[in-house]
Amino acid sequence: MTNWEIYLNLMDVRTMLLLKKERSLASLYEKSAYSVAAMDETVKDKERLTFLPEQVIFDIEEMLVSGNSFSFKKKLEEEIPKGLRMIATLPGIKPDSALKLYNLLGVDSISDLRRNLNAIRYRNDFGIRFEEQVRRSLLLYEKDYKELTLFEGFSYGNSVKRLLLENGLKQVEIAGSVRRGKETVKNINFVVSGERALEIIKRSVSYKRIEKEKQNFIALKDSRNIRLMFLIVPEKYFYSALVYYTGSRLHVSKLREIAKAKGFSISKNGYVLVESKSEEEFYSLLGLQYIPPEVREGEEEIELAERNAIPELVEQSDIKGDLHIHSNFSDGTNSIFEIVEESIFRNYEYVAITDHSGSLKIANGLSEERLLKEMEIIDRINKEGEINLLKGSEVEILKDGSLDFTSDVLERLDVVLVAMHTGFEESAASNNVRVERALSNKNTNILAHPTGRLISMRSGFSLDMNRVFSIAKKNKVALEVNVFPKRMDLSASLVKQARRAGVEFFSIGTDSHNVGHMNFMQYGVKILRRAWLTPENVINTFDFKELKGFLCTKTH
Ligand SMILES: [Zn+2]
Ligand SMILES: [Zn+2]
Repeated sequence: MTNWEIYLNLMDVRTMLLLKKERSLASLYEKSAYSVAAMDETVKDKERLTFLPEQVIFDIEEMLVSGNSFSFKKKLEEEIPKGLRMIATLPGIKPDSALKLYNLLGVDSISDLRRNLNAIRYRNDFGIRFEEQVRRSLLLYEKDYKELTLFEGFSYGNSVKRLLLENGLKQVEIAGSVRRGKETVKNINFVVSGERALEIIKRSVSYKRIEKEKQNFIALKDSRNIRLMFLIVPEKYFYSALVYYTGSRLHVSKLREIAKAKGFSISKNGYVLVESKSEEEFYSLLGLQYIPPEVREGEEEIELAERNAIPELVEQSDIKGDLHIHSNFSDGTNSIFEIVEESIFRNYEYVAITDHSGSLKIANGLSEERLLKEMEIIDRINKEGEINLLKGSEVEILKDGSLDFTSDVLERLDVVLVAMHTGFEESAASNNVRVERALSNKNTNILAHPTGRLISMRSGFSLDMNRVFSIAKKNKVALEVNVFPKRMDLSASLVKQARRAGVEFFSIGTDSHNVGHMNFMQYGVKILRRAWLTPENVINTFDFKELKGFLCTKTH
């Protein structure tokens, strides 16, 4: 069983729990699912899962034995009508809305939903845009449409890659838009080489139908309508094919022109017939500097590579610490000690504990008293000197733009993240004022998840981002790239825009709610690379002294 299959099973349970209105248990399953999906190795037993809640570990062990389902999931499936479950998984329909359709209109199948479109229009329980949303969802459903987030694309892709390598293929790499780091993807592309590749792929990957099959290519559609495409190539052309299949289309077509001018020929499949042992060598054979996949968009990268002018983009190995982590003081599941242990394992120089502040009741936000207690624990751990723990907080920006702790308390913190978790219905004018006031507070260091959007669920605050950028720049506030899978906020394009507007500092925050989430860091690096960022603009690459310097300049 792959990590991806475990992830999907846990997410199914999450959806069913939401249909039962068991929100906190649903969130526990969601957080656990993300941790499994982010793991670098295939889960074979509970050994590396001990940080997860016992109930979830139990479910996963049962899955590993049965190879698929588990009793808790089966029990929920028996309880909740199939039609309702199905509606809850339609693209763009939230479990809450599915439940409303079921309870108010008795809708319990897709055809029922279609018949009730008019009734939805004339009931004001659903809001004015809802009918439109349902029509769009039905259309997407009919087209077998499925879109994955970057996080999902990577975890699924890595699961398939590990499986194929375990089953005997010699080389497998994820290509396509997943490798370039696009934030949503419609299919996952792979380049593979090795004997009997077609046979191994068909035997290893589970799918519902073969969409296309040739001697050196196969496209499979899985049971959830996700398309997996494999280009099978001879080993000597692996890297050339990897460049070709990674794209983008525009980038590749420019490369082809250069290759032709140099006298190379092109294979029937589209890649340049040039042997190489790495992508670096491939580019250098074309007379170009290596171009990282994240910036192969056919913009100016080839011209820059010709002049050897591609900058050294930020890399995972530059990262010295995580700056957004929740412990079990607020809504995280692990203790500060467990976070310390994981951070040492990751070779981090520092990590910031940033639990929620008091007014975010739903996330068990900390009162001043509890925060002070947490700070004491951190001081004690710091005395042992194994790692630098930063005393932090994810402080609510209140309605008027003031912060949820007094400046006395804020001044005692090492790092102050400020964030909005409410106000999605407010106007841009009032949100702008709110953010402006919060960023002007001399204690503010980082604006967490600046837009508030949740991928394919919620579009974020009405906010004039250019104004946010100029206030951040003026007040030396870092903008966060929050890499909790459904957030990815800021996006690469907004980071680019912020950079153009003169914002100098960005931070990556995993927003970890268990230590498994600390593995999300890699997606933040990907997003920042896509925005062409180099280490000096990313505060997680600063060593501890530099970081302290950055955090202190405003208050001292
Ligand atoms: Zn938050
Ligand atoms: Zn957070």
